[in-house]
Amino acid sequence: MTPTVLSTWSFGPVANNPAWEVLSRGGSALDAVIAGASAVDNDPTINSVGIGGLPDASGRVSLDGCVMENPDRAGSVACLRRFANPCEIARRVMEKTIHIMLVGEDADRFAEREGFAPIGEKGLLTDYARGEWEKWIADPRNLDRDKYRGWIPPLNVEEKARSGPSQSHDTVCVLGVDSTGRLAGACSTSGMAFKVPGRVGDSPIIGHGLYVDQEAGAAAATGNGELVMGTCGSFLAVELMRRGATPVEAAVDALTRITKRFALGPDHQVAMIAMAKPVAGDEKWGGWASAAIRPGFHHTVTDAGGTRVEAAQRVLIP
Ligand code: ASP
Repeated sequence: MTPTVLSTWSFGPVANNPAWEVLSRGGSALDAVIAGASAVDNDPTINSVGIGGLPDASGRVSLDGCVMENPDRAGSVACLRRFANPCEIARRVMEKTIHIMLVGEDADRFAEREGFAPIGEKGLLTDYARGEWEKWIADPRNLDRDKYRGWIPPLNVEEKARSGPSQSHDTVCVLGVDSTGRLAGACSTSGMAFKVPGRVGDSPIIGHGLYVDQEAGAAAATGNGELVMGTCGSFLAVELMRRGATPVEAAVDALTRITKRFALGPDHQVAMIAMAKPVAGDEKWGGWASAAIRPGFHHTVTDAGGTRVEAAQRVLIP
């Protein structure tokens, strides 16, 4: 089958290029999606993932990530503070332990024991991200932050439509299918900017930010994680595909559930990407899709036809 890689946001080429490199030489979807997510982690100019991610309300960066191939092949880490590539560590959790998820300082210690190189003195916080945090704490609108009400910068929808990813959040989710027809997914994020310390969103939670089942398909979500967590968004989309929905129908239905069950504010955004399960013989592959609640979301797709950054195929609230 012809490999394909699909990732979230217009920074997607940073992910898709190394992922495609793996797929085009016959590598596995799992290796490809992790290579893609890690490349975004390592880019300090992307302020919502990995090195350069905006910190929590206490000024410290924490990273979350997960990988998945099947219900019995998943790994996850949350609230890492000393390592830059959560998906690589999540894979190690999947492959080396009987568990799925490790969190906090013990996840950092696990990474250390597994021989990953810590980020070192400089840490995950770049000068730019520190400057943004300093502006945030100086803003009187954030005075109630100590009451555990992290303030997220308001989203100007028109500006977002022009500029693509917001720096207050925006996870890299990468879905891939390799030449053997195997699916895999990876998500990596620094989560909501200026979040309450200890907050973990949907991205590293299996079934919320990412779900993959070789018998049904793959889906991943980005945006306000609490909305996705309230609806088990990625699991829901994959279950809809299991029952016959196309990837675009599944993504739209899962997002519609969010719009019906939450009182959405103007700054609420969720987008989903979805990929159909692979098929045997000459049955036609169901392909992939992207959808978003509001304008501004872009996906990046790479296949035999090259790499394209495109607006979401469906937008629920134009
Ligand atoms: N879903 C992520 C979180 O809530 C952020 C994002 O994808 O924009 O942590």
